[in-house]
Amino acid sequence: MDVASFSARKRAAFDAGFALMLVALPGLTFYLQIAFLHHDAALVLPDAAFWSRVALPGADTLALFAGWVGFQAVLAATLPGRRVHGVPLPDGTALAYRLNGLLAFGLTLALAALAVAAGALPATFLYDRLPELLTTANLLVLVACVWLAVFARRQATPEERERNWLEAYVVGACRNPRVGGFDLKFFCEARPGMILWVLVDLSLAAKQASLHGSVSPAMAVVCFFQILYVADYFWFEDAILTTWDIKHEPFGFMLGWGCLVWVPFTYSLQPLYLVSHPEPLPVWTLAGVVALNLAGFWIFRSSNLQKHRFRSDPKREIWGDKPDYIKTESGGRLLLSGWWGLSRHANYLGDWLMGVAWSLPCGFARLLPWFYPIYFAVLLVHRERRDARHCARKYGTDWDAYVARVRWRIVPGLY
Ligand code: NDP
Repeated sequence: MDVASFSARKRAAFDAGFALMLVALPGLTFYLQIAFLHHDAALVLPDAAFWSRVALPGADTLALFAGWVGFQAVLAATLPGRRVHGVPLPDGTALAYRLNGLLAFGLTLALAALAVAAGALPATFLYDRLPELLTTANLLVLVACVWLAVFARRQATPEERERNWLEAYVVGACRNPRVGGFDLKFFCEARPGMILWVLVDLSLAAKQASLHGSVSPAMAVVCFFQILYVADYFWFEDAILTTWDIKHEPFGFMLGWGCLVWVPFTYSLQPLYLVSHPEPLPVWTLAGVVALNLAGFWIFRSSNLQKHRFRSDPKREIWGDKPDYIKTESGGRLLLSGWWGLSRHANYLGDWLMGVAWSLPCGFARLLPWFYPIYFAVLLVHRERRDARHCARKYGTDWDAYVARVRWRIVPGLY
């Protein structure tokens, strides 16, 4: 985006949009949580009484959340892990990353289980303190992003420095801010937020068991597949290095808040709904949910791996054949085999199908338990359009040739 060439009016509109985001996005997390906790996930019109339920952060939750992020940072910085290099940057260099996410994830789960077994923490702790934790996380991340904007500005390229302070805060002051060798974006992408999401899920399942005597099959299935999603991320941690977020996205409030607040507190909404809806589901419904999850997972994982592996080994077979591709003038290769020959983003389709499968066990009585797949569909459609613009700029007529060969954007035969 050529910020400098913005007209003053366009600039003001962007700034107003950024300012609105800073209020609306945290506000939405509060809205959703209160609707789920106090209105059985009904789509209510919020009044003053509704907003009065926003909890104040406690000194303990402030210390806890800061300590949590710090603890994950220590694990990321100190646990052993494979060192790999990311994709080449515009200046030709490639940043080094230490991959120890699976170990950090496993260790954190083991420590949490130990704390619960030893009676140091009730298993329902996160559910019980969810409102205060949400306010705490919002506050701390909003403040931490001020530091991030100032700090990251020092590592910005001349072009990135053209962003005004509001944009540097919201979008990010630079792409890969690092404290020494510690990559803030790579760390925040998953460690504190995705692992917290899993712990919140487990706490919600424990709450359901304490209220109703057992964990319902629907809760067990949703939690299992969400935990699988996170475990899979860490298992294939190196695959994240070739994704859009790592390669192109600046690191600021949007990504930082998204990973640290949005993910753990809104991606767990389906299990939150199920806490007070333990009704058994027909076996065929559960079987359908499991089948959809597995299908989505397969499309998501195999398509992401096909592209990722193709990048490092363009001769590796895909679906039993030598891969077909376009060798572009800029030097890169555009894969035409496997999922990448069926649609330009089948990985988004697989991801979205999993989201649908997480909401299905919540039934159709309420709209809000479907918030995630609805929001995610919007995000993925927008993301695909943005990626297409990026690829069109980068690959020019080679991209046109790819689009001519692979007609569908996300859903083969449909979209
Ligand atoms: P991709 O991993 O699909 O990366 C897109 C990039 O891949 C393009 O910019 C281009 O980069 C390259 N590319 C595009 N087409 C081809 C091709 N045919 N052959 C080779 N390379 C190609 O996108 P994302 O980073 O957006 O998503 C990664 C995963 O993360 C997805 O599965 C998505 O669903 C998931 N995701 C999940 C979110 C969540 O909240 N749960 C949020 C966002 C994403 P280049 O410049 O290298 O050519």
